[in-house]
Amino acid sequence: MSAALIDGKAVAAALRAALAARVAALPFRPGLAVVLVGDDPASAVYVRNKDRAAASVGIAARTIRLPADTAQAALLAQIAALNADPAVDGILVQLPLPPPLDARAVIAAIDPAKDVDGLHPVNAGRLADGDPVLVPCTPLGVMKLLDAAGIGLRGACALVLGRSNLVGRPVAALLLAADATVTVAHSRTRDLAAECRRADVLVAAVGRPEMVRGDWLRPGAVVIDVGINRLADGRLVGDVAFEEAVAVASAITPVPGGVGPMTIACLLENTVAAALIRRVGL
Ligand code: NDP
Repeated sequence: MSAALIDGKAVAAALRAALAARVAALPFRPGLAVVLVGDDPASAVYVRNKDRAAASVGIAARTIRLPADTAQAALLAQIAALNADPAVDGILVQLPLPPPLDARAVIAAIDPAKDVDGLHPVNAGRLADGDPVLVPCTPLGVMKLLDAAGIGLRGACALVLGRSNLVGRPVAALLLAADATVTVAHSRTRDLAAECRRADVLVAAVGRPEMVRGDWLRPGAVVIDVGINRLADGRLVGDVAFEEAVAVASAITPVPGGVGPMTIACLLENTVAAALIRRVGL
């Protein structure tokens, strides 16, 4: 068997085009504010990409750059100003924050209605409660890829590898909401390979290069690889050994070009959704 590729670039491009058309029809421009603290080069690249992608769909994006030694109180004051700014529909604080800044407190200070990363406890709680409003971008992207690939989730046996607040937990909640039977595995799981072999749908979000081997997969499984790992030779690989998995799975996302492009597209979708909810009450 050779698995079908789930093309995240194409799905993300279609999502961006649909968003651009929706934004063009609005009587206002949704606004996104990205807060970047410090000078981590990877974060700077992510923020630049978010800025560009936002502009490409007609969202008014602005980046607030703060020095690495910004005090917690100053950062919270910045968040309060953005909360109060009527032109700002979405606020995203680029993570990780340089120490000793407390990311949890900063996220909790964002107005939940503007929390386009979906990480505020109110939004996490609503997702856990089965009534999601703003959902974390990467998990939302995972669900859109499954949908675009026509994967039926009702009754399916799903395994989520990883339990972070950013990816694993929200993916598990979304799969459960889609009526999958969900198992969440993590670093203390006793027999990972055996858990994986039971899965019709496997979502890997561990950050360990090529950890999931082909013989861990059930023949015909659908594999969504969230991992992004850079090897010493500069190559980017996922959490799944792609060449092995492709011979066993029925469908799989590549790395790069799978989940990655969906994350930013979903951030833009969340920004438009937040704007409509706040300004129009939709
Ligand atoms: P975290 O480090 O926050 O979480 C990793 C999870 O994997 C934890 O739950 C951890 O378990 C589990 N884990 C780690 N090692 C093992 C192991 N050997 N066996 C089983 N479980 C293990 O990572 P994130 O969730 O933030 O990200 C995961 C991956 O996804 C990374 O590669 C990241 O780069 C990528 N990512 C990609 C995005 C995209 O846009 N495509 C966006 C966000 C992340 P425990 O809880 O027990 O410690």
